[in-house]
Amino acid sequence: MATETISVWNPATEEHITDVRSFTADDVYDAIGAAVTAQRKWMKLPMAQRQQFLNDIADTVLVHRDELARLESTDVGKPIHAATAEVEGVAACFRYYAGALDKVHGDAITLDDGISLTFHEPIGVIGVITPWNFPLPIASWNIAPALAAGNAVIVKPASMTPLSTTRLGELIAGISPVKGLFQVVTGSGSIAGGALIDDPRVGKISFTGSTEVGQSILRSSATTMKRVTLELGGKSANLVFEDADVKAAAQAAPGAVFDNSGQDCCARSRILVQRSVLGEFVGEFIEATRALKLGDPNSPDTDLGPLVSAEHHRAVSEFLTEDQHYLYRGETPDAPGHWLAPQIILDETGKSRAAVDEIFGPVAVIIPFDTEDDAVRIANDSIYGLSGSIWSRDVARALRVSRQVQSGTLSVNSNSSIRVQTPFGGFKQSGMGRELGLEGLLGYTELKTVFVKTEE
Ligand code: NAD
Repeated sequence: MATETISVWNPATEEHITDVRSFTADDVYDAIGAAVTAQRKWMKLPMAQRQQFLNDIADTVLVHRDELARLESTDVGKPIHAATAEVEGVAACFRYYAGALDKVHGDAITLDDGISLTFHEPIGVIGVITPWNFPLPIASWNIAPALAAGNAVIVKPASMTPLSTTRLGELIAGISPVKGLFQVVTGSGSIAGGALIDDPRVGKISFTGSTEVGQSILRSSATTMKRVTLELGGKSANLVFEDADVKAAAQAAPGAVFDNSGQDCCARSRILVQRSVLGEFVGEFIEATRALKLGDPNSPDTDLGPLVSAEHHRAVSEFLTEDQHYLYRGETPDAPGHWLAPQIILDETGKSRAAVDEIFGPVAVIIPFDTEDDAVRIANDSIYGLSGSIWSRDVARALRVSRQVQSGTLSVNSNSSIRVQTPFGGFKQSGMGRELGLEGLLGYTELKTVFVKTEE
């Protein structure tokens, strides 16, 4: 029987790029078998050799930086400068976990009749299921700590954007000290992803994607009692207080919501502005948004590429109803490709669909507020809690508000969301568990306690 394939398309031109293999459940089960064998060998290799392998991956990624960035840019529609920076981040992530690998150790707990020792043991085989918006970075945030902790890894990339992860798999296989330690299985979420979730030999699933699919994965994982980390949707708030550097906040705001054409789980797509500075903020924000260059992702000065697919373009466009108060509507080119220019909406109530739902496109909703309490209440009035920013010159206020906003990652006077050294993850329906930092590494281990009797 011929191998089934999935077509991959360029969202900027709507041209067919290539076809990739569509793994069946049986293909995935074979990959899991190979991973089980590989993991037993991997965890026994000397630490220095394991660190060397992770550093070798970082070096290889940098050698192939331009190739990987081009693949990512063509497949996702991402501006080439952003794709290049992301590939460099992937190398940095492997480098960080190479260094962290030998810093993880257990405890000795003295007891009346002996000593208990704790060990952070590898889980075994890890299934990583990734979305289409940041294929390589998100894969690396899981592959690197999972390998560092002594596991084998199988990644199932999104079927729309599998090319960079597939290439990473080939590159890693070429230098891996153990065959089958890292594998990529392409194909549909329900079949290839479902096989990873159903198989009892997979000890943990790390899923990044929509809240809806995350909920179904959590339910399915219960059967085999899998460990699960979920990084899901967001509708993050950008809080701008009247005592902030309003100009700086407004100039940074387009990057916080329109980067990656708004297809970013951390997008600060609800901008809460204190009423006394609303006019000043809106003027500066529109001017900074107007300066963004939408166009060919391969061009070095492009800021915004297209949306990922026609289907996603339709879903985002459904939010752009005529009954809303638009402050700005960018000009969308009439050309092949799934283009959509930035849109800025004012919503006094914060209750419209555009203000509540995750749009995952270049759409910002501005919601005015009067008091600090109002700002916190509106920010928390969401099923999500992934990211967000607070702009204020008053450090006490910035910290007070940070403590009250129900979100896993916040930044003050900055758009920064994700650093490899610090934990990242969501409150509420934005997910469970943490990636990155040392917590990310510990998330790929099981804690074991061994009691040693020393007294009669
Ligand atoms: P998605 O949920 O549709 O798909 C994500 C992955 O899950 C894909 O690989 C897909 O093939 C697979 N999948 C789909 N159905 C499955 C099933 N039944 N069983 C197993 N696997 C299945 O998400 P998407 O559209 O690719 O990505 C967009 C979403 O991802 C947004 O909601 C965004 O907020 C979220 N996201 C979250 C983070 C984060 O870190 N919190 C980061 C990026 C994206």
